Amino acid sequence: MKIAIYPGTFDPITNGHLDILERALKLFDKVIITVATNSTKTPLFSESERLAMIRKAIAAFNNVEVDLFHGLMVSYARKKHATAVVRGLRATSDFEYELQMALMNRKLDDKIVTVFLMPNEKYTYLNSSIVKEIARHGGNVKQFVPSFVLEALKKRLFPTQRKNKRR
Ligand code: ADP
Repeated sequence: MKIAIYPGTFDPITNGHLDILERALKLFDKVIITVATNSTKTPLFSESERLAMIRKAIAAFNNVEVDLFHGLMVSYARKKHATAVVRGLRATSDFEYELQMALMNRKLDDKIVTVFLMPNEKYTYLNSSIVKEIARHGGNVKQFVPSFVLEALKKRLFPTQRKNKRR
């Protein structure tokens, strides 16, 4: 059984993440989405909120799991018997950081292979930060995220507007 981990912040999960996940499932028997808890970023959604959104997004797959992880990615991968780390590559701007991480992880454990997958072109300019930024300014991000993520974004970013609407 070929197992891969797919680590990231997923704040929140987008259609770009899901595109990469579906491609990874063509290569691996099981993919474990691992939500990093030791990120230096300040997330908009809590760990449990991010996990809950991912769980909803992967409900249709029986070979995808989601988990929290902190510490070293290679240690986590070993513990889960994973032999690969999946990462998405959108543009050359991703490359330098990803190369550094992949080479460092290989130094730490050369049995774990980093696999880079390219998303559909329509997602190459998409990331969670830009989705949050557009949503924050009232732009429509419907085409970039699952519907329940859209709702969660509206609720988090405009809590009072929703209350007013109900009055
Ligand atoms: P990180 O904080 O590690 O960048 P993210 O949640 O932003 O975590 O992303 C996790 C992984 O998913 C990364 O490999 C990232 O490149 C990839 N990814 C995110 N958005 C997209 C997208 N639109 N297309 C392809 N890969 C993506």
